[in-house]
Amino acid sequence: MGEREKLLEVKNLKKYFPVKGGVLQRTIGHVKAVDDVSFEIYKGETLGIVGESGSGKSTLGRTILRLLDPTEGQVIFEGDDISTLSNRKMRPYRKDMQMVFQDPFASLNPRMSVGEIIEEPMIVQNTLTKKERKEKVVDLLAKVGLPAEARSKYPHEFSGGQRQRIGIARALTLNPKLIIGDEPVSALDVSVQSQVLNLMGDLQDEFDLTYLFIAHDLSVVKHISDRVGVMYLGKMAEIGPKDKIFENPLHPYTQALLSAVPIPDMERKREKITLKGELPSPSNPPSGCPFHTRCPEAHERCKVELPELLHQGNEQYVACHLYTSEEK
Ligand code: SF4
Repeated sequence: MGEREKLLEVKNLKKYFPVKGGVLQRTIGHVKAVDDVSFEIYKGETLGIVGESGSGKSTLGRTILRLLDPTEGQVIFEGDDISTLSNRKMRPYRKDMQMVFQDPFASLNPRMSVGEIIEEPMIVQNTLTKKERKEKVVDLLAKVGLPAEARSKYPHEFSGGQRQRIGIARALTLNPKLIIGDEPVSALDVSVQSQVLNLMGDLQDEFDLTYLFIAHDLSVVKHISDRVGVMYLGKMAEIGPKDKIFENPLHPYTQALLSAVPIPDMERKREKITLKGELPSPSNPPSGCPFHTRCPEAHERCKVELPELLHQGNEQYVACHLYTSEEK
């Protein structure tokens, strides 16, 4: 891939939530939502993160944006460690990192007009005149495929797909560098999903954006990603270039996830791998490899030893003992 510049680095990131119990509501344990996750995102790429609900992928996105404070580890944005910055010191970085949420209806204030919604971050930032702000609202609406008249309407007057376009316009207001999409098309009809994904692809080129795209749906992630990371119980099971992950998945969990996705354009048929059992609770994850309770390939070592995420060539990394030697 040649020389690529890192926009974001996540190093050994952890986000634990306390579990309270007893009459005194003491902390009796922790939900390890994100548990020692490391990866990087290069400028201009889309990294898709997939996993079941409970895998920690949404918490990961929120912790990177510092909507949640990390328990441990680092988030490095353009070379600056932002993981422990105060709210005031975070302010200059906030405009560079925006989020597009799953449910645009919940994330758009129903009492504000669309024009006000898109203009609000610019008012807070206070760098443009009123006239410039109004012009930018119309410009952004056009970029996301909505007419100028949309600015005087309210969110409930739009369809789900249109509301997500408004959410995207708002995210673009301050010319961000990184957009984290947290299941941004999951609530939309399939036909509308691809329109919004195509729009996000076009905007990426036009505005030089980098995306972290979180979704449970592999076909959505395939549509938009350059690289894909697969999370399981707060950990990265596998990460690599999209083609490698989809054509040659190494981790048994990735193989199982992919076996459930129809692949009409491929000659070889994949056998559907049915995983036994439920996703264990992240407050009480299994010992050793967190996937061992459901893994069809699990062996003795898996129950006691946590596999490291190791490079397998071609930028594909996997955390599984099938790909590590017994000797250290
Ligand atoms: Fe399965 Fe063992 Fe690999 Fe974990 S380490 S994915 S349990 S084979």
